[in-house]
Amino acid sequence: MDIQSIGVVGAGQMGNGIAHVMALAGFDVIITDISQDALDAAIANISKNIDRQVSRGKISQDEKDAAMARIRTTLTLTDIGPSDLIIEAATERETVKQAIFEDLLPHLLPHTILTSNTSSISITRLASRTDRPEKFMGFHFMNPVPVMQLVELIRGIATNEDTYNACLKVVEKIGKTAASAEDFPAFIVNRILMPMINEAVYTLYEGVGNVRSIDESMKLGANHPMGPLELADFIGLDTCLAIMNVLHDGLADTKYRPCPLLTKYVEAGWLGRKTQRGFYDYRGEVPVPTR
Ligand code: NAD
Repeated sequence: MDIQSIGVVGAGQMGNGIAHVMALAGFDVIITDISQDALDAAIANISKNIDRQVSRGKISQDEKDAAMARIRTTLTLTDIGPSDLIIEAATERETVKQAIFEDLLPHLLPHTILTSNTSSISITRLASRTDRPEKFMGFHFMNPVPVMQLVELIRGIATNEDTYNACLKVVEKIGKTAASAEDFPAFIVNRILMPMINEAVYTLYEGVGNVRSIDESMKLGANHPMGPLELADFIGLDTCLAIMNVLHDGLADTKYRPCPLLTKYVEAGWLGRKTQRGFYDYRGEVPVPTR
């Protein structure tokens, strides 16, 4: 099937990035959110981010205008029902996502494919509560969406090949690369990345190194573009902890136990860049290690 129209649920960080890349690639996009402010901010953000691409000569002003004209917004969730593909990128809470899919069901086209951008919730479980588990899958973008090249495509247990191939075509059309993943906790990227970050926090907790020596070691010794603690601050320490808990609970293996120091930072409300403090303090001119 040929996908032309895309409905995006949630106009937050991820939703607006998804709308941005889809509209630039020529899809008709309709974004919905429960907050008009979030919708307004998303449009302003998309416009600003595409302006940056125009100023770098990556796309023309005409291409920008055409992309912006392809994006509509609505506060009414059911308006997006008649889309070829729906990408749900609302708040990471299972009850929120379940309610969204339940409300959408009576308004979908028979061929509408449902997907979720969830980082940690079981695709199979979300799919099982809809009328079309064979047309349901995970469409997992990385943050920031316009910059990151990878999309994980996650098959639920019932996802059929037509659905997978239709989503793969969309990934190719937006110029990104798909990695196929099965539906197990945290999929591929976070399954590998988060235990590494958690191990970096253990290394700090046990005093093997300090924040600076750990980050320098991985940048210069393993050729990572960012140190693991710097990266954790960028992702958000609450998100890192939540994903470790998903791995720990879902795979029932103690090797995924979250480091107590990570828990302590989250309890302190030191969540990384978004709260100005995490493994680094961002309140001054330059980030200063907090340990
Ligand atoms: P966010 O908090 O920036 O945005 C979520 C948006 O969803 C908000 O604007 C909120 O108003 C809206 N929303 C909440 N309930 C809604 C409802 N019932 N209907 C419509 N909109 C609703 O969150 P985010 O970081 O964009 O994350 C969104 C999803 O993407 C989550 O599932 C998350 O796990 C996943 N994800 C996040 C990242 C990341 O790095 N932030 C990376 C990959 C995947």
